[in-house]
Amino acid sequence: MKFKVDQETCVGCGACENTCPDVFGLADDKSQVKVDSVPAEFVECALEAEEGCPVKAISHE
Ligand code: SF4
Repeated sequence: MKFKVDQETCVGCGACENTCPDVFGLADDKSQVKVDSVPAEFVECALEAEEGCPVKAISHE
């Protein structure tokens, strides 16, 4: 599963990194997806991070 962070929308709050540090990491005050395709074991926390993003900047396909 692939995740995306809309760089325009992200406010750099760090919530996604706290929830799922294996997938999301802050760089230049914006969240970046650290892996091209999220391995099965991290999908649950990545979805949780998507759900928890206060500005809904995270999406997946
Ligand atoms: S939770 Fe949302 S707004 Fe906060 S850093 Fe992550 S993508 Fe950006």
